[in-house]
Amino acid sequence: MLDYVIRNARVPGAANGGAVDIGFSKGKIAAIEPKLQADSPSFDAQGCLCCGGLVETHIHLDKSRIVDRCTPEPSRSEPNHMKRVQAVKPTFTVEDIYNRAKASLEGCIKHGTTRMRTHAEIDLPVGTKCIEALTQLQKEYAWAIDLEICAFAQEGLSNAPEADKALVKALESGARVIGGAPNYDVDHPAQINRVFELARHYDIDIDMHIDSGHDPASLDLHLVAELTTRYKLGGRVAMGHVTKVTGLPTVKQKEIARKLADAGVAVTALPATDLFVLARHVDYNVPRCVTDLNMFAECGCNCSISSNNILNPFTPFGDGSLIRMANLHANIVQVAQSERLAELFNMISERSARLLNLKDYGIKVGSEAEVAVIDAQSPADAVATNAPVLAVFKRGRQTVARPRAELLRPA
Ligand SMILES: [Zn+2]
Repeated sequence: MLDYVIRNARVPGAANGGAVDIGFSKGKIAAIEPKLQADSPSFDAQGCLCCGGLVETHIHLDKSRIVDRCTPEPSRSEPNHMKRVQAVKPTFTVEDIYNRAKASLEGCIKHGTTRMRTHAEIDLPVGTKCIEALTQLQKEYAWAIDLEICAFAQEGLSNAPEADKALVKALESGARVIGGAPNYDVDHPAQINRVFELARHYDIDIDMHIDSGHDPASLDLHLVAELTTRYKLGGRVAMGHVTKVTGLPTVKQKEIARKLADAGVAVTALPATDLFVLARHVDYNVPRCVTDLNMFAECGCNCSISSNNILNPFTPFGDGSLIRMANLHANIVQVAQSERLAELFNMISERSARLLNLKDYGIKVGSEAEVAVIDAQSPADAVATNAPVLAVFKRGRQTVARPRAELLRPA
């Protein structure tokens, strides 16, 4: 007995050339067939691309929407992103974080995101305020999105005992993943080792900011790969940015991609941030510093594309659209073949779901009744045209409606 049906859905790989109906029953997908016989309420997807919702693996809801209260960039060569963010952190209250995070979360939901991992800072003076605000949003928006919290120290861990204490507290009070930012630690290996130690103690996944920058002279990713292998954590470790590798010859980048694939470490590109923040050391012939995820995926490495920051000194733009991020990535790494564009779509859906170790994701019988309807004919078309999301379903009910724009011709 079906309680809802999405009609005329285009599901890549499904029978009948992908044109099927998707039936929901008790919050699960119960049937995927052409012309399902059921008189339950329905939604006509009109042949649009359907996927199991978009998946954001790396965003900072707690630090979003602060660009208007930060000082402007002093200069292009010395933008002082971190200092300008630090200067406003004392103004963060639980209510303030809640309100800003809520606005960004709603933007993401409207653009089709149904699963999300948000990184939350625990450094002083913020402490566990972010965890508190995000835990509240997690409950309030459970009807539209599964929000996972990844706690991490943004401003150093190895020499900050109070940050270590706050991190442990966060892991005991709602955070289900541990992150890190060794770039901002006086001792990179010490932080990475401590993160692995805590991950093993609490039996949780790891998602760290690693090797953001343009100079590949020293890379933390080797230690992350080594510890992942040593502790048999393959499939449970992800790294964001990883842009320093773009300064290496392609053959070396491929060696690294294969090494990460063997270890089971995933890579997330944050194209909006990487493109905006990096390569400020030169003022012409500026390198792009965005890791080519198509190349990494072709070497066997799992990859995702995410937003990172929205309206923040590190990324003063953004609307929460993951399709726009995939389109931006394609443009930066100069990819246009349809199989590769389709692979970029996977990096905001299926591959991201795998990175988050989601078991009930995707349009298949038994998965959660969760579907995003995208105004495109195929995954490649969605990325190429930056297609809008027209409707979203979560837990068996419609959560978002975005009517198509219409031309109003003269009579
Ligand atoms: Zn980040």
